[in-house]
Amino acid sequence: MRCPSCKQRTLDPTELASGPSALGCGGCGGVWIPSRSYWAWLEARGDDEAPDAGDAPTARPTDDSEHAKICPDCGHLTIRYEVGAGVSFVVDHCDHCNGVWLDRREWDALVPAGLHARLHHVFTSGWQARRRRAESEERADARLAEDLGAETFAELERVTAWISSHPRSRTLLAHIRASVEQTFREARRP
Ligand SMILES: [Zn+2]
Ligand SMILES: [Zn+2]
Repeated sequence: MRCPSCKQRTLDPTELASGPSALGCGGCGGVWIPSRSYWAWLEARGDDEAPDAGDAPTARPTDDSEHAKICPDCGHLTIRYEVGAGVSFVVDHCDHCNGVWLDRREWDALVPAGLHARLHHVFTSGWQARRRRAESEERADARLAEDLGAETFAELERVTAWISSHPRSRTLLAHIRASVEQTFREARRP
């Protein structure tokens, strides 16, 4: 089985650190994880110890390959999926046999946030919709920060977080609204 990325070497059996057995390329360092191997590992492991992937952004591996690949198991073209959740590289997935191609260091970058054990979610429409929503919220925040200035935006974020997490958040918000509207009305008076 030839490496789908560098096409220079054949893939050899390898074990991923805290992961399933896979097939690795000694040339480019990429790994192919067949679907059956991933699921056997996930089932043996139990899926309850994965930490939340909300934070812990990981560094972008420098070897993220960008060309389309042919699935080494079934010969279909693999599809590139953005991972999101603080991870800035894409992973290649065969939508036909569900195998996954990871470039050098990508597996290790997924482990700290527990994304390695949730990799199968990345290829679902639900995950991708959430990722796109999160990214568009980030872009909107960036635009607002630019518009308001960093200091005002930081203060707004702080106040918003405080109100949102307060047990009486509705009361706080109602008070703020009433007070601000009152201030507006007074300002309009001749
Ligand atoms: Zn290779
Ligand atoms: Zn395939």
